[in-house]
Amino acid sequence: MTLLAPHRTQTLRRAPALHQQPGKVGTLKITVIGAGVIGLSCAYELSELGHEVTVVDAGDVGAGGSAGNAGWVTPFLSTPRAAPGAVRDAVRSFTSTEGPARMRAHIEPGFAMWVLQFLRSSSKARSGRAAASLQAFSRQAIGHFDSLAERGVAFEQYRAGLAVVFKQAGNLDHYEQLLHRTRKLGYDGEVTVHRGTAAAEFDPAIRRDVAGVMHLESERHVRPETLTGGLAKAITAGGGQIIEHERVTRLVPSARGTWTVVTAESRSILSDQVVVAAGYPSRTLLRPLGVTVPLEAAKGTSMTAHGEGTVPSHPLKLYENMVACSPFGKAVRLSGTFDIGRRDSTLNHKRLDMVVRQGTGYLQDWRPTQVDVEWVGHRPTSVDDLPVIGPVPGHQGLYLATGHGTLGITLGPLTGALAAQEIAHQRHQSALDPFRLTRFTQRAQRSA
Ligand SMILES: Cc1cc2nc3c(=O)[nH]c(=O)nc-3n(C[C@H](O)[C@H](O)[C@H](O)COP(=O)(O)OP(=O)(O)OC[C@H]3O[C@@H](n4cnc5c(N)ncnc54)[C@H](O)[C@@H]3O)c2cc1C
Repeated sequence: MTLLAPHRTQTLRRAPALHQQPGKVGTLKITVIGAGVIGLSCAYELSELGHEVTVVDAGDVGAGGSAGNAGWVTPFLSTPRAAPGAVRDAVRSFTSTEGPARMRAHIEPGFAMWVLQFLRSSSKARSGRAAASLQAFSRQAIGHFDSLAERGVAFEQYRAGLAVVFKQAGNLDHYEQLLHRTRKLGYDGEVTVHRGTAAAEFDPAIRRDVAGVMHLESERHVRPETLTGGLAKAITAGGGQIIEHERVTRLVPSARGTWTVVTAESRSILSDQVVVAAGYPSRTLLRPLGVTVPLEAAKGTSMTAHGEGTVPSHPLKLYENMVACSPFGKAVRLSGTFDIGRRDSTLNHKRLDMVVRQGTGYLQDWRPTQVDVEWVGHRPTSVDDLPVIGPVPGHQGLYLATGHGTLGITLGPLTGALAAQEIAHQRHQSALDPFRLTRFTQRAQRSA
């Protein structure tokens, strides 16, 4: 396990400069809305290219979906959830209280439309194309973590791979078929399989009676709050500005092609370019401009704790219950649930208790004794479960980066690097083509 120098998240607030002016010649003044992993990655790369960057967030830096998640950097798991079987899962989610995925109980028209489009994206043909695009894209992801570390961004990163643990042998067989299909899409990571007693020898923290483990050796994990903290620190060290606790309420275009970003606190930030990376609320910000982004929130929860017993040496995907177990030094984070359409941030203790109970059910003797954090966060999820990255059509100077669903940490640094090239240099990045906003309008036109 390799640990890169950790550092504490530092939140930064500078004296407000009301009515800031666009940047000097050659330097763009760019405002990024959202200080999650996506917004911060974009802002960092843009400041590295020499532009004047201001990040605005309604809350604390990195405190949204990017905070208490599992932190896996996992190209292998880059498969959209909109896939065959989604209809069956949707029906189950209405009836089960113990399942990992649940659907919002009160269906309003906007949510019903999202569900219909999601189910439409789940056909074999569409999900096959989406999986191929996502695999090809995520293959580049890990190198961008090395690039951040090389440039001095400090964060906790571990190279212990990712171990998928199975209680039932049949599920491991099924997963080996998935590995075979993922290999066909180009996945070339090292993989080993440990069956029966070899599984517990592989990591003594795992219960002796599991059926087996598939170890995806090339995957990594990071402590996500150190990644956002490290990016924030690097942005301000490079002269960028981060404004916390100010909600952006309006984006106002001017005839000159610039934008004014208006906050609830009456700050107006004049900008040459605006990047919207506000997670699922991005759709609300863009709606007044006539732009529809088919996004929903998929609520998840986690507990980070110190405990007694054997701490896992690897991050563990506990297959049957879809619970993630991430060791960060002596602390362990158990995370899970995918509650689609649940946009509130209330901690549901029943759901969190389920995650902890199901997660520890795979562990030999580790049990939490001191809870550090209980957390709720949202995955911004599009109708085809692919990210939405690129210029907003018909709105010069406006760029969107969101919809990373279950993969925001994995794809954050890569997204930031490619988006910055498009925003700052107008250099088209063909790797982003499968993720353009236009795919939704084109699809709607085809089916009309
Ligand atoms: C339980 C769980 C486990 C996960 N595990 C993993 C994992 O192992 N690996 C992985 O790759 N991904 C994982 N994810 C997914 C990942 O966490 C998300 O994809 C990612 O955090 C999304 O980042 P973001 O920057 O788009 O959104 P956020 O981190 O939510 O950031 C958006 C920011 O925008 C701000 N904002 C919103 N509206 C406004 C406004 N009007 N004005 C100003 N600011 C605004 C918010 O305050 C927020 O800070 C997990 C998610 C969950 C819930």
